[in-house]
Amino acid sequence: MSVDNLVNKALKRIGAVHPVIKQGAEEIIRRAYKQGIYVLFSDGYRSHAEQNALYAQGRTKPGNIVTNAKGGQSLHNYGLALDMFITNKEGTTATWPTNKLREVAQIAKSLGFEWGGDWTSFKDYPHIQMTGGLTLSQLQTGQKPNIKLKNVSQSTSSTSNKTNSKSIAKMAQEVIDGKHGNGHEARRKSLGISKAEYEKVRKEVNAITSGKKKKPTTTKTVQQMANEVKKGLHGNGHETRRKSLGISKSEYEKVRKLVNAGIHPSSSKSVSQMAKEVIAGKHGRGHENRRKSLGIDNATYQKVRAEVNKRA
Ligand SMILES: [Zn+2]
Repeated sequence: MSVDNLVNKALKRIGAVHPVIKQGAEEIIRRAYKQGIYVLFSDGYRSHAEQNALYAQGRTKPGNIVTNAKGGQSLHNYGLALDMFITNKEGTTATWPTNKLREVAQIAKSLGFEWGGDWTSFKDYPHIQMTGGLTLSQLQTGQKPNIKLKNVSQSTSSTSNKTNSKSIAKMAQEVIDGKHGNGHEARRKSLGISKAEYEKVRKEVNAITSGKKKKPTTTKTVQQMANEVKKGLHGNGHETRRKSLGISKSEYEKVRKLVNAGIHPSSSKSVSQMAKEVIAGKHGRGHENRRKSLGIDNATYQKVRAEVNKRA
C-alpha cells in the first residue's frame, strides 16, 4: 500500500478531528513510513454518544472496561486525540508493539503531541493528544484550543493544501453549513478548487455526515433540541452542542435563542432558590449532576455554585 493510501485510510477512520490534528496524523504516517514503520489510527473524533457506548462496555454491557471517560470527558470528544496502531505494508493488520509505538510517539512528540506512554499513573501507549494547554474542564465550557504543529513546513502536507489555503476539513464543514449552495459543480466552483480536490471534500462531507447524523436531525424540532440542550444532553459549550446535535451554525442559533429564552428571563426559580435546593441535597452530588438536575446552563450553574459556597 502506498503512503497516500495509508493516509487516506487513516483520515477516513479518524473522522471530524481538529484540522491541526488531522494534519498531524498525516505527518506522522508519512514520517513513520520513511522509517519503515506503517502506522494507522483506530480512533480520532468520538461523539458523546460513541464515548458513552464505550464507557458502558464492561459496566452495563459485556466486555472489558476500556475507558474511564463518559461523553464529554475524553479529549477524543473534542477531536484532539488519536489512537494509533502498527500495521503491515498492506495496511491489513493491527498490532501494538510498544517499541514501535514508542518510535512513532517520538515523531508525534516532535510535532507537538503529548504521548499517553509518558503518563505515570495510567500508561496509554497508543494514545496521542494536543490541547494547546487547555484542561478538559476548559474544553467542556467551550473554550477553543489554539494549536499548531511544530517542525512542519506547510507545503509538506497534502491536507493543508495544494490549491488554496483552506483544509479539506474546513471546506467540508462549509459545505455542510450550506455556504457553497447545492449541487456538486456549484459547490466546487464556489470553493474554487479542482475536481480531484472537490472529490476529497465530498468524501469528507460524507464521512462527517454519515458518522454523526445517525439520527435524522431533521425530525427534531428546534424546540426539542432546545429541551435536550437544557437537559444537558449535548454537553457544554456552543460548538460542542452544535456538533452533538449535528446541525448547521444557523440552525444552532435558533436552538440557542430558545434555550436562552427558557433559561434567562423566565426561569421560574431564582439562583437563591436553586442554591437552597442544592444545599438541601435535592439535586444529588457532583456539579454536572446538579446542573442537569436543575436543567440550567453552565453559566447559571456557576452562579448557583457561588451562592451555595457563600451559604454552605
Ligand atoms: Zn485515546
